[in-house]
Amino acid sequence: MTTPRILPSIDRLRQRPAVRALETEYGPPAVLAALRGVTDMLRRELTAPELPASPIGNSEQAASTIEQRTASQLAVEFEPSLVPVINATGVIVHTNLGRAPLAQPAVDRMAGLAVGYTNLEYDLGTGRRGSRSLHAERLLSRVTTAPAAVVVNNNAAAVLLVLAALADGREAIISRGELVEIGGGFRIPDVMRQSGALVREVGTTNKTRSADYAAAISDRTALILRVHPSNFRIEGFTERPRLEELVTLGKRFQIPVVEDLGSGNLLDDHGAGVVNEPPVSASVASGAAVCCFSGDKLLGGPQAGIIVGAAEPLSRIRRHPLMRALRVDKMTYAALEATLLEYARGRAHTSVPVARMLTATIEAIDARAAAVADQLADDARVAVDIIDGVSTVGGGGAPGSALPTRLLQLTSPDASAATLEARLRGLRPPVIARIEDNRVVLDLRTVLPEQDDQLTSALIGLD
Ligand SMILES: *Cc1c(COP(=O)(O)O)cnc(C)c1O
Repeated sequence: MTTPRILPSIDRLRQRPAVRALETEYGPPAVLAALRGVTDMLRRELTAPELPASPIGNSEQAASTIEQRTASQLAVEFEPSLVPVINATGVIVHTNLGRAPLAQPAVDRMAGLAVGYTNLEYDLGTGRRGSRSLHAERLLSRVTTAPAAVVVNNNAAAVLLVLAALADGREAIISRGELVEIGGGFRIPDVMRQSGALVREVGTTNKTRSADYAAAISDRTALILRVHPSNFRIEGFTERPRLEELVTLGKRFQIPVVEDLGSGNLLDDHGAGVVNEPPVSASVASGAAVCCFSGDKLLGGPQAGIIVGAAEPLSRIRRHPLMRALRVDKMTYAALEATLLEYARGRAHTSVPVARMLTATIEAIDARAAAVADQLADDARVAVDIIDGVSTVGGGGAPGSALPTRLLQLTSPDASAATLEARLRGLRPPVIARIEDNRVVLDLRTVLPEQDDQLTSALIGLD
């Protein structure tokens, strides 16, 4: 039996050039801990009577084994947990996959501002303390036509803050058809209660009329809340007043109407035909006092909650103590301003990935799928076919909107769809696919065009 005496000491190991290189990369304490662990493990392997005789016969072999195992162990230990993935699900705003990929100008802006100091809360005109909530406001006004705007951490925070600032201890009237759950445990009635607003439900699940709201108005009423049904549809015997009717009613009693738009559609004609989501500017034009929406759904920017509306309610919102807890950092402003600039310039449909994916034609997707399939035809072990399918907006944006697409369907001679799907997830970068009719399908609509080659090479290795 091989004796552990061939095991080199930790000090000897640390003199080896490869181990020194590891120390430079990971720092001596981590390397030391890993060396000890790996050496202990090897000692147990070498002395275990039940194991077959080890091929490690001398000190050099032992040292190089320890070296290699330490290197791979450290590589795993130091891998960040957040990694890029290829989204081939065809769900454009995929909450589990981090929602919107950012536009290049947003990425550049973040990188440019991240490395140094900024005027985040500094007024360059007076040389005094400024307000961070001014950032993005001018651009938000331009693209939504609302006079004032505030940015917070996400739209859930926006709803909470708006209600806390405008309806604490007073009633917020809401239709029973809009007491919805958005996902991730975000339920409108719970958020309303957390804000301190008193929920005043009116109407029924499927029908709520203007008169129902009118009958509920009293001197306790703070506002009328309207919530966009982002992720579901009620069909059949239904009724819901138009936003304008609520605004007219509100004006009669001097009660503001607040609308939670969910997705925040800023697309102009380019996207109007594709998504059936109310444009933010239409809500503002209808006279809603305050509207809020997400930054990373249809808008295609960073995670944020955007609140736009009239000057007076917005100034109350800005001054509320919760604002401090919900505010965003310079990175969010950087990415948001750069994304909004693309809208202001009228070129978001080509430069903002979410907008580009929404408006991608089936011909363009088909051509990309054909190019990938062509390259796979000779080399890959999986069989590839191109079939018709549908992509979706997802993420609570545009319920039921189905965009016709072309899918790459993968089949393996010996692996089930579930096995193949798991293998795709195991690739680096992981490829997230969809299983449909017991077949694995990839939708290139949500794959960034610059990832097509990466995807192709990954698929060639797949079996
Ligand atoms: C998505 C959504 C929210 C929550 O927005 P987050 O940005 O995810 O916090 C709130 N309300 C509606 C109607 C939504 O669709």
